Amino acid sequence: MTDQTVDLDTLTAWIREFARAIGENAQLLSDLDAAIGDADHGINMERGMTAVLSALDESAPADMSALCKQVGMTLVKSVGGASGPLYGTFFLRMGPPLGTSDSVAATDFAKALRAGVEGVVQRGRAESGDKTMYDALAPALDALDAALTSGAVLSAALSDAATAAQNGRDATESMVARKGRASYLGQRSVGHQDPGATSSAMLMAAAATAFAEG
Ligand code: ADP
Ligand code: MG
Repeated sequence: MTDQTVDLDTLTAWIREFARAIGENAQLLSDLDAAIGDADHGINMERGMTAVLSALDESAPADMSALCKQVGMTLVKSVGGASGPLYGTFFLRMGPPLGTSDSVAATDFAKALRAGVEGVVQRGRAESGDKTMYDALAPALDALDAALTSGAVLSAALSDAATAAQNGRDATESMVARKGRASYLGQRSVGHQDPGATSSAMLMAAAATAFAEG
């Protein structure tokens, strides 16, 4: 990878770093879900990312598109909760824009992430402020685009995106949940950070870490 391109190795490093972060924080994610859901978000994500790592070790994908497809399919198949199809769709939608070339420009990677998030919205119908993973992902992608437009290198732009995702995650605490299980609680969901926004902030932090090392 150069400063402004993304390749299969970097993308793989991102997935592995996300799996590591999920494994390390599975208890936290389930504890957050215990407050406003059914206490399984960490279990769900850990099961999914463990399956993703097994699939990677079994057969190394030939290109970035194949990698995203494998990750997405594995998450859809192995995760029972709402988060499986949502994260699965995210990766499945990222694949086609990345295509089969050896590397893509930073702006094309940002577009692929955007396609992934659009898939999450199509699937889950979440809007900003609904207290979901979208509240971490949407500001992250806006920050990524803004940084790339102003000429930042990809690693710096992803670091901005990770910070925006963390701020978005923190902002879910005061929101009333309008999607998923937490929405059953209505006002009682206020005062708790959304578990999916928390794992999505980890996804963006993992990208910043993997790309900084790449
Ligand atoms: P489940 O709710 O089926 O137990 P998880 O606990 O694994 O699934 O995931 C819960 C997370 O999924 C929530 O914290 C929220 O961020 C996300 N989520 C749930 N429904 C939606 C939706 N319709 N759109 C976007 N994200 C959603
Ligand atoms: Mg749950």
